[in-house]
Amino acid sequence: MEAIKRFLYDYRISIPKVYITDIFEIIILAFLIYHVVKWIKNTRAWTLVKGIVVIMLFWFVAVIFNLNVVKWIISNTIDVGIIAILIVFQPELRKALEQLGQKNIVRSILIFDEVKDKNERFSDETIDEIIRATFELARNKTGALIVIEEDISLQEFENTGITLDSAISSELLINIFERNTPLHDGAVIVRGNRIAAATCYLPLTDNKQLSKELGTRHRAGIGISEVSDCLTIIVSEQTGKVSIAREGKLIRNVDGDYLRAKMIEAQKKTPDTKRLRFWKGRRENEGKAN
Ligand code: ATP
Ligand code: MG
Repeated sequence: MEAIKRFLYDYRISIPKVYITDIFEIIILAFLIYHVVKWIKNTRAWTLVKGIVVIMLFWFVAVIFNLNVVKWIISNTIDVGIIAILIVFQPELRKALEQLGQKNIVRSILIFDEVKDKNERFSDETIDEIIRATFELARNKTGALIVIEEDISLQEFENTGITLDSAISSELLINIFERNTPLHDGAVIVRGNRIAAATCYLPLTDNKQLSKELGTRHRAGIGISEVSDCLTIIVSEQTGKVSIAREGKLIRNVDGDYLRAKMIEAQKKTPDTKRLRFWKGRRENEGKAN
């Protein structure tokens, strides 16, 4: 103890007094930063943040090499840029403020995040229900599009549909895709053990090499798998065949065992290294496409 005191004294290290208000402040800041980051990741703002990082890098290089014109351009566009961001993200900002008003803040402070369950995204029952529904739909030649979310949030696509947030059952899935019903058009998004939304609109792939017999349902299924790490299940209305899309690739006419194997892969939470590999793979693919 003495030695520590002497060490601190010798090196003039003083520990500032921490008051109870400081602790409160740290907790409040941590809470705010956590929620702002979570909000950014769930909206279009995430791409914007990446853009800002790129501009900051430019600015950094400009400062180091003293590139006056670049510095001038960046410092002059920042003011305009902030106003532009406020205008472009007005819907998101408004929604965030509305949510703030609705949220049970005490609960979110206490729970912080629903305790992340071990290392599985969804249960074995969810796999069973989805597979049962898929092949029942295929047998009846009812078209379906089911997107299973993994690490990358599909919130922005969920926002294009009707929110359900309901427990998964094969009956409900079959009912959703029943022709001539209000929820059958578009895609269902599955998050964890819940059906997050139905009638979602997905981005279509512009892959020119796809077979001409594949229409918009298949193109939407592949499109979403290009922009996220999701697993997509597509049931063709024309042929009653089941296909899956992952990382921009379509595997046609799969059977129950194959689908189960792919769902078990998706069920395990991806370690960060695999996620990195996915992004690297995507960038290589983009490189090839150009
Ligand atoms: P199928 O083999 O079932 O006929 P397909 O690939 O030929 O599939 P279409 O016949 O064009 O596709 O399927 C149209 C259906 O696909 C629409 O009714 C709609 O439910 C769904 N769909 C089309 N575009 C999208 C989209 N962008 N996002 C989500 N779902 C879509
Ligand atoms: Mg068709």
